[in-house]
Amino acid sequence: MAKKKSITIYKCSECGYTQPTWLGRCPECGSWNTLEECISDPNSTAAAFGKNATEKIKPVPLANVTAQENARISTEIGEFDRVLGGGAMKRSAILIGGEPGIGKSTLMIQTAAAIAKKYGKVLYVSGEESAGQLKGRADRLNLDAKGIEILCTMRLEDIKDALSAINPLFVVIDSIQTVYSVEAGIVPGTINQLKFCANELTGWVKSRDSVLIMSAHVTKEG
Ligand SMILES: [Zn+2]
Repeated sequence: MAKKKSITIYKCSECGYTQPTWLGRCPECGSWNTLEECISDPNSTAAAFGKNATEKIKPVPLANVTAQENARISTEIGEFDRVLGGGAMKRSAILIGGEPGIGKSTLMIQTAAAIAKKYGKVLYVSGEESAGQLKGRADRLNLDAKGIEILCTMRLEDIKDALSAINPLFVVIDSIQTVYSVEAGIVPGTINQLKFCANELTGWVKSRDSVLIMSAHVTKEG
């Protein structure tokens, strides 16, 4: 089958409206300078990945529903569990924000090691550090790296492939700002990229009993 050609579209970072030509003002929500150039790839796997979005959802009698037990996963770090209200809620996404250098990566590798030890199946995606650097960090913290799969990439498509292959219980993204998808625009780090990638990853954990934890650098400018 011949591959369909990808096309350039313009997407509003405020409301998500798309249109074929660039405009200074979004015709949908009226925002100025929010249209960003994107590539719409008809051969993309995103459609298959987000297939639950098009599934028809029907009501079910509540009496027939099996109660969800153990809806939370303990991070084995007491203070972190307390902040999360008694552990990380399954099917949820946690965002760890803060200025660079305050220890987000340390907290995430510690949490990853604790969860891998107790439950197994952790995927750690690093867009900034190499696998060797991460191992060095884990060793310095005396962490057992067993059960943690490391993926050093910034491409959303690589992350999705790994998610499908490993089906992890716990997914760490360090950091969400480094993740990009060609579908969300040519320039990495834009608001469109951030929204698109965070939405895609959150959608994945929400369809499973998994937890997503993402770090985000917050600058003084916010
Ligand atoms: Zn708009």
